[in-house]
Amino acid sequence: MSQEFDVIVIGAGVSGLYSLYKLRELGLSARVFEAGTGIGGTWYWNRYPGARFDSESYSYQYSFSQEVIDEWEWTEHFSGQPEIERYLHYVADKFDLKRDIELNARIATAVYDDVEKTWEIETTNGVRARARFVIAATGLLSAHQFPDYPGVESFAGRALHSARWPKETIDFSGKRVGVIGSGPTAVQIIQSIAPEVDHLTVFQRTANWCTPLRNRPITTAEQKELKQKAHQIFDLCKRTWAGFIHDPDPRAGVDVPKAERLKRYQELYDRGGFALWLGNYSDSFTSRLVADEVAEVLAAKIRARVKDPATAEKLIPKSHTFGTKRCPGEKNYYETFNRDNVSLVDLRATPITRITPTGIETGDATHELDVIIYATGFHSVTGELMRIDIRGERGVSLQEHWSDGPKTNLGVQFSGFPNFFAVMGPHNPALFCNITRCAESNVEWIIGCIRYMREHGFETIKTTTEAEAAWTERCYKSAKGLLIDDMQDSWFFGSTNPANIRGRFLLFAGGVPAYREIFADVAAKGYEGFDLS
Ligand code: NAP
Repeated sequence: MSQEFDVIVIGAGVSGLYSLYKLRELGLSARVFEAGTGIGGTWYWNRYPGARFDSESYSYQYSFSQEVIDEWEWTEHFSGQPEIERYLHYVADKFDLKRDIELNARIATAVYDDVEKTWEIETTNGVRARARFVIAATGLLSAHQFPDYPGVESFAGRALHSARWPKETIDFSGKRVGVIGSGPTAVQIIQSIAPEVDHLTVFQRTANWCTPLRNRPITTAEQKELKQKAHQIFDLCKRTWAGFIHDPDPRAGVDVPKAERLKRYQELYDRGGFALWLGNYSDSFTSRLVADEVAEVLAAKIRARVKDPATAEKLIPKSHTFGTKRCPGEKNYYETFNRDNVSLVDLRATPITRITPTGIETGDATHELDVIIYATGFHSVTGELMRIDIRGERGVSLQEHWSDGPKTNLGVQFSGFPNFFAVMGPHNPALFCNITRCAESNVEWIIGCIRYMREHGFETIKTTTEAEAAWTERCYKSAKGLLIDDMQDSWFFGSTNPANIRGRFLLFAGGVPAYREIFADVAAKGYEGFDLS
């Protein structure tokens, strides 16, 4: 027996919670199905040591409620996962959201009924529900992935994935720990656990350009000022190309004298967070000269901070220039490699051959381990949607529809899947965007669309195939001319996704303001590119 709702929301993370809040405001009945045993999405699953914001706390928080802004006090400029999870619980409790959230409810199938024009979902534990609309708030980086090395299952010690971290505290003291990966997650883990473990071996395939996070507590005076300036901060994030508080110098770096450029790089390095990445010059993402110069500056910092020159060289990226991947925010990451109990294995020189019951074998050595931590990332952007068996009109599955890479209109709809919306789906600007800023505007657009349909007596909305093809093409083109397009070995291009997804740009790189304008324009034109019936 299916329960009936107006809307089914998949996922109780930042986007899902806000979707529920907005649907209630519209007077609709909604049920959120959440795979975890708690709310929070990313901030529920990624509870690994050192997990924290890479956006400033006050730029990431929700903007929709003045009371929330006034009441919640972030303790740090980049708060840690426990505080973020507490914040999301506070918001959910404040608006009594939890009564409409079903936990421990992973949706296995979502099937469109062509006759009734409704969706039916079923969870892995047999709960069924029907609704006219589905909002998939499944997150961009949710479907974690393990490497397919031989013997992965055979390891007799403890194997952990950063995105499925257990709730209990893990005592690493006296343990020989291996971390596979050197992305933003691995950097946070490595610098956090190194002082605790007996020995830490870092298995690095590709070094990354890390920048200092420069996290610190928010003082009482700052707290007051940040609350007063909250809406200015949100407005700034709407205006900046990348949706963050970092506003680049409008001049092209190439037009500025070198000495002035170098001074700016240092200032941005000192400022911390994504300042150097997103707040540099207007041509930072197109000018190889600027990117390479920043890379040189960072390489010099790494050489100065890491005592062993050979290790320093391994930590300096050789395959990509600065800014072509999201840069990890670090604190003492490089100094971690000066510790006697930390060693670095360069997997390019000595690849992993297999995982054994007692450790990891690389080309030249066997590394005996008690714990292996996989910080190996995700089947990005499309992963979580593809793991659900989603069937649209005439039973066509999303897997079939996307067999040749994702196709979307504005990232929110896929042709043949009426009334199915994705928040922050493929082809949204999230490669740079501060997630809450982009999620809020995405959710507001979807809710505005449902409101419009009710007011005008429409029952279904689905993107036209032409608009879908045009948007998909526009997304591919948006990366052209940017340096990221030269370096496709990142989650922006699904580098660890299945082969049919890999190598295609999965996002929109036209900037957050342009994305918002396009959305507003489509809505103002009565949802141009969508068929309403
Ligand atoms: P990631 O950036 O995709 O990094 C995955 C790492 O695992 C890379 O170093 C990758 O190496 C390595 N890897 C993957 N498969 C491997 C294999 N078979 N063998 C060896 N190494 C392998 O994933 P992530 O670090 O989880 O970060 C993903 C994104 O999440 C970030 O870009 C960021 O946007 C976000 N994030 C945000 C925060 C925050 O807000 N504070 C924190 C963490 C992450 P290669 O580079 O060679 O593929």
